[in-house]
Amino acid sequence: MERQEPLGCDHTMEQQEARGCKEEELGKMCLANGLARFRGSQVFRWVQERAVRSWAEMTNIKEADRKLLSAVLTLRPLELLREQRSRDGTRKYLFGLADGESIECVLMDYERRRARDRHTVCVSTQVGCPVGCAFCATGLGGFRRNLTAGEITGQVLELTRNLRREDEGFQVTNVVFMGMGEPFLNYGAVLRAIEVLNSPQGQNIGMRRMTISTSGVVPGIRRLARDNAQVGLAVSLHAGTDAVRDVLVPMNRRYPLAELLGACREYGEISGRRITFEVALTEKTANEQEASAVAKLLRGMLAHVNLIPVNPVAETGIKRPAEKRVAEFAGILAEAGIPVSVREERGTDIEAACGQLRRRYGE
Ligand code: SF4
Repeated sequence: MERQEPLGCDHTMEQQEARGCKEEELGKMCLANGLARFRGSQVFRWVQERAVRSWAEMTNIKEADRKLLSAVLTLRPLELLREQRSRDGTRKYLFGLADGESIECVLMDYERRRARDRHTVCVSTQVGCPVGCAFCATGLGGFRRNLTAGEITGQVLELTRNLRREDEGFQVTNVVFMGMGEPFLNYGAVLRAIEVLNSPQGQNIGMRRMTISTSGVVPGIRRLARDNAQVGLAVSLHAGTDAVRDVLVPMNRRYPLAELLGACREYGEISGRRITFEVALTEKTANEQEASAVAKLLRGMLAHVNLIPVNPVAETGIKRPAEKRVAEFAGILAEAGIPVSVREERGTDIEAACGQLRRRYGE
């Protein structure tokens, strides 16, 4: 067959990154460039399952074909700029992007979960964040840009590759979209990354093992309920009244609590899934009044509350609440019949709060 000139596909820029492409898209791209469709499946496996960082590593694909494909498809590895290991096994990574930006990614509780073969990775979806939550180091730095789907899957892939050097069978089992950025402000790339990570030929991470965490972008919650209700939802609630939430999570001024809870109920009805409501507790918010307000808001809902005593961030002056206050807060919710847990401390000996490592590195 006469070989045609390399053709770009009609995808957007981000879809031309190999790490953000679905298997069938790679197959079509191969066909459009005069190659057999199965080459696309081979490329997908190398990229998504073996987590390769270069075309040269794809040893079962002829050099001429690799050259042709590299003209229409980019394979851009993330650069590991820094790794921090906490005493509790949490590992935090700072990855550099092609344009000089950097993002954070966290492997939670690696050592302890190793025995159970359960590995949860928290990935970023934006460089910086436009939401500006009061207690968040990421928000302090402002917003730079959205990540592409390839840069989102890339975090899981780089981390997997890195870990496999010491633990050959390492496999990420759960992904939370809870790192830097608001996932629903980058909806298309996040949903694409989820589909790619879910592929059985790649990382094979179950839809129900991936969770999007939002600061309360109501249209995003409604859209997720329609598009893919298999994916878990976590909502950063943080307060039980609009007055307090307006200050902690500025997104609340756009989508106040009544609207947010309405969308959450809709998601719950369609998905049948329990929503996790995250409540970050500071020295100022860990009190009886706030606990009662949260309990009133969630009563009767299919919900679980995760209390998070905040990691202190020097720049914000926010302090961690006393343990006794956290226990009292949990007690009020439990009494109201709302399942509640307190997130265990993780990575307090490293820069565990979202955005801290990137800020230090920048300085
Ligand atoms: S907590 Fe999340 S949504 Fe809020 S500023 Fe930080 S990264 Fe953005």
